[in-house]
Amino acid sequence: MYKEVISQIPEDVQLVAVTKLRSNEQILNLYNQGQRIFGENRVFELEEKQKILPIDIEWHMIGHLQRNKVKYIAPFVSMIHSVDTLKLIKEVNKQAKKNERTIRILLQIKIGQEEAKSGFDFNELETALAGYFLTDLENIEVCGVMGMASFVSDEHQISQEFSQLKSYFDKLKSDYFVDNPEFKEISMGMSGDFKIAIECGSTIVRIGSLLFS
Ligand SMILES: *Cc1c(COP(=O)(O)O)cnc(C)c1O
Repeated sequence: MYKEVISQIPEDVQLVAVTKLRSNEQILNLYNQGQRIFGENRVFELEEKQKILPIDIEWHMIGHLQRNKVKYIAPFVSMIHSVDTLKLIKEVNKQAKKNERTIRILLQIKIGQEEAKSGFDFNELETALAGYFLTDLENIEVCGVMGMASFVSDEHQISQEFSQLKSYFDKLKSDYFVDNPEFKEISMGMSGDFKIAIECGSTIVRIGSLLFS
């Protein structure tokens, strides 16, 4: 399905191929068709795959990340989509500095209905960003936002949630990142809802199951 999926994604939208539970062979199959950006939602799997698979793969961390595990992925991770606390932001900066590199991050913001969804509450995030410290963190690049819609079949609801994330992005951009060209990404959309996400302004889609079906 790789070619079919690719043909439905506009050129200015990036595809993160989500490899959770996939074999190295399956991943290499996509690699050989030209895919270079891959995403994992667990630290251990990310580490293992990065060690074995081609060195020019750009690895993205997309799942919940515990602070004490940042050190394992800091040497190589290209972007972390799932940054959802200020403490985690500081830890990513610290570990990036240790590795003498810059790590790109997205701020994960709650949009879906489910209680368990991780992510910043938008109002709390706004309050926190009104402080001074983000600009003090020299080893991270805040590139935008990430969110997950509710797992429902109601397309109208999904569309509303994605539009909400787009408006959060616009607000953060104008309040805090207006002079920062790197703050430009909205990571939203998975196998079941990526077309809606693109209509709502997504710049990065994270697709797993559909690519491998
Ligand atoms: C698994 C996962 C995806 C991809 O989900 P599919 O439905 O398989 O496309 C995207 N984002 C996150 C955070 C995931 O954990």
